[in-house]
Amino acid sequence: MSMSFRTRLLASHVGLVVAVGLIAIFTLNRWLTDDLVRQLDTRLFEQANGAVEWAEEGGRRHPDKVATRIAHIVDAEVALLDRDGAVIGASPPDAKSDIGEEVQTARNRGVGKATRMRGRQEMHYVAVPGADGIVVRLGIPLSEVSATVAAMRSRLLVTSGVAIMVALALGLLASRVTSQLAAERDHLSAILAGMVEGVLVFDERRRVIVANRAVERILATKSVVGLTLDETVTTAGLDEEARKLIEACMRGDVTETETEITDKKGSSIAVYVRPLPASAGGAVVAVLRDQTALRRLMTIRRDFVANVSHELRTPVTAIQGYAETLLRGKTDSETSQQFLEIVHRQALRIGGLVEQLLALSELEARGPEDIAREKVTIVSVAQHVAETVRGRAEARNVKVTIDVAKDAVAIADPEGVERAVINLVDNAIKYGNDGGEVNISGVRNGTTVKVTVSDDGPGIDPAHLPRLFERFYRVDPGRSRQHGGAGLGLSIVKHLVESMDGTIDVQSTLGDGARFVITLPAFTG
Ligand code: ADP
Repeated sequence: MSMSFRTRLLASHVGLVVAVGLIAIFTLNRWLTDDLVRQLDTRLFEQANGAVEWAEEGGRRHPDKVATRIAHIVDAEVALLDRDGAVIGASPPDAKSDIGEEVQTARNRGVGKATRMRGRQEMHYVAVPGADGIVVRLGIPLSEVSATVAAMRSRLLVTSGVAIMVALALGLLASRVTSQLAAERDHLSAILAGMVEGVLVFDERRRVIVANRAVERILATKSVVGLTLDETVTTAGLDEEARKLIEACMRGDVTETETEITDKKGSSIAVYVRPLPASAGGAVVAVLRDQTALRRLMTIRRDFVANVSHELRTPVTAIQGYAETLLRGKTDSETSQQFLEIVHRQALRIGGLVEQLLALSELEARGPEDIAREKVTIVSVAQHVAETVRGRAEARNVKVTIDVAKDAVAIADPEGVERAVINLVDNAIKYGNDGGEVNISGVRNGTTVKVTVSDDGPGIDPAHLPRLFERFYRVDPGRSRQHGGAGLGLSIVKHLVESMDGTIDVQSTLGDGARFVITLPAFTG
């Protein structure tokens, strides 16, 4: 692309020089020939006028002698003609021949001129009449003129050659500079295109002269190049405040300035406005950055810290209070025992919370390479889980049943699947009915395996289902807290399942138990 551009540039340079050279040679040929012939013609005319007097005087007696003398003086061939048109004297003898209409014209009009070929030579004749009907005709070959023109032409050719060389050198230089500029422009466009930030440049007439793709993405608009500043507000959705800033910057009221605007979709956009160097002629650049994701993350972090603090406050306050009372030493041993049990329970709650938080942060820090992809037989997982929760199930008199198909084999992280199912079974025991039943089932469904944990407890109001997997979300905070839950269990399960390319779903109606379904990629070996 750049090569062909250079070639084109060079070709245009050389073409220009060649064209100018050709035009020069052609016009020179004509003009110079015309000029030289005209000069020659004038000279011959003046000389013929001078010679005619001589011819009148001595022409009749010694015509040849006079002709020779005249020829010698004027450096042209001479023919003397009498009234009847007969040649009476000539020098050199050749001059006798080729007598044409110029002689008659001379008699009629006072001068006769003609240019024609004589043999292989082109001749120019000028004839002038004298007294007694005598006519002097001077002739000169035009080969002299052609020789001068040829000499000029060859000089011009040499000059054109030099001009072509110079043009080539200049062309090379120009093409190198141009390709350098083109390369720089390409780099700049690549950088602009690759930028996450939107870049808008306004010229001094307040028109957009540069805008990268990111601008279109951030403002959710079509190309803005060519729009006026006002149009960027009315049609492209730039904020009024940003427009004022850009205007202020154009007037030179502010130099570097920034603001944050909220667009019609509610995205928050940071706008930095800066004047370009004076050499750019009063242009202003505005850089737009979409802060929405950052703002959302900040909100999430703030909420997270607030939630954790809130979860910790209750057990910590309880531990402080009971510990202080115990330290005062005024409680009897039975009360002390009760208080110590409370302190212990609250400490366990804090421990559980910290463990869950650590599990979450460990899950978030995991990359795809940290997650095993192994054959996981769901029956074994279910049996292991049932074994693990046996104590807690017996405490509530809950029966854990297993109903898993043999071909329910997934490709997943064995530990991850087990942790997820334990969490769901634990919840089912915690939130289900005393003496109820919790069932772990598993089926293969084409390329997926579904693991379902269902209970026959009170279930969950469907209004809560959409937010159930959010961190710290609890359906009944009082009841949940009784069980030591902070609302993190299900968000951990969701995280685990999704990290194994699976999905989790919940179905429930109040009073009719809850069903949590994990879908995982099936083992297809
Ligand atoms: P927690 O740590 O509080 O148990 P989870 O994230 O595990 O938090 O659960 C979120 C909420 O979902 C719980 O507060 C509980 O109200 C509800 N829940 C979870 N599993 C069941 C279930 N099997 N039956 C009824 N409610 C449930």
